[in-house]
Amino acid sequence: MPEYSSSIASKLPRTGTTIFTVMSALAKEKQALNLSQGYPGFDAPDALRERYAHYLNDERNQYAPMAGVPELREAVAADLNKRYDAGYDADTEVTITAGATQALFTAAMALVREDDEVILFTPAYDCYAPAIELAGGKPIYVQLKAPDYSVDWDEVRKVMNRKTRMILVNTPHNPTGAVLGSDDLDELEKIVTGNDIIVLSDEVYEHMVFDGKKHHSCASREALAASSMIVGSFGKTYHATGWKVGYIAGPAALMAEFRKVHQYNVFCVNHPVQLALADFMNEHPEHAAELSAFYQQKRDVFLKALEGSRFEYDPTPGTYFQLLRFGNISKEEDTEVARKWTASPGVASIPVSVFYHNPVHEHVLRFCFAKDDATLIEAAERLKTL
Ligand code: PMP
Ligand code: GLN
Repeated sequence: MPEYSSSIASKLPRTGTTIFTVMSALAKEKQALNLSQGYPGFDAPDALRERYAHYLNDERNQYAPMAGVPELREAVAADLNKRYDAGYDADTEVTITAGATQALFTAAMALVREDDEVILFTPAYDCYAPAIELAGGKPIYVQLKAPDYSVDWDEVRKVMNRKTRMILVNTPHNPTGAVLGSDDLDELEKIVTGNDIIVLSDEVYEHMVFDGKKHHSCASREALAASSMIVGSFGKTYHATGWKVGYIAGPAALMAEFRKVHQYNVFCVNHPVQLALADFMNEHPEHAAELSAFYQQKRDVFLKALEGSRFEYDPTPGTYFQLLRFGNISKEEDTEVARKWTASPGVASIPVSVFYHNPVHEHVLRFCFAKDDATLIEAAERLKTL
């Protein structure tokens, strides 16, 4: 190819390749155990894959309806309405998306206007700020309070003004595992009620909450749900991150705006996969219901095997990520340490500083424990050599 010769005024000048791509590539190169990028080390359930194969061979390979197949929208609405005593209408208030990423991106494009401000909590999952910026909005960062990464709602009030259009929350939270409590939802509800602020609530880890805690969804409060767009991911819940299918649920007026963008963004998503997910949700509700117990056991296997190491940690309350503090082992920056330890002792992780707007170096790494037990034990054994 001839070289492109003009200068490019980048729309995202601060953005490089995501840390997940970088660390997974390094893990491969160094043949390390990859506990960096978050994805299960095991397959989607047999019955779900069987349903996919069925629809793949049943001439269901053309475009799906724009908002998603009715069967899956109905399954999602019924599930949310049952769990949160909510009242979502499958026709007008649920849309099936190409993963949570597209739901978040499209919501930003549809609802954030030029010069609107959007409050984000740092450390923040990496796709939020670019989506807001591309929509013409301005991310306003509020730092979560270590060590439990809780929200200081007074700080949120301080940064609010008439330009505040949206608050983006994420519970259970990536990368920290923190979960919002009922008292947090009280505060959020007070803040948005009567203020014309939309809550974009990333709840992709809704089925991974541990130690008897419960997931508090913005869908579970009538007043909050009236201003909230709830985002979920079938990839997380059904061990199928590669299928890239998710959903968004919210009030009809906001969903109508969302769909205006969605129809030109992707139009629709994978048809046979949607039909398979609808069948599986209806036939196997126990899968999601048992997911917290399944991942709590994995977290505990990992932490038990880590006993005696020099890392410090609090068992993660949610998600499939465990943070480990390494300040006792090294004073180097987490980005450096993550690279080094991928090479030797051969465990890849994610440095938490990359999720900050202005990196905060607290000597913390994130490890994904969605792996088989033998891998978790071997990873812990290697980490104990440090
Ligand atoms: N939000 C969070 C907090 C995530 O961790 C992820 C992916 N791991 C996503 C959104 C994107 O989900 P999906 O793969 O369904 O696009
Ligand atoms: N969400 C996953 C994580 O946090 C990664 C998804 C991706 O690679 N974009 O690790």
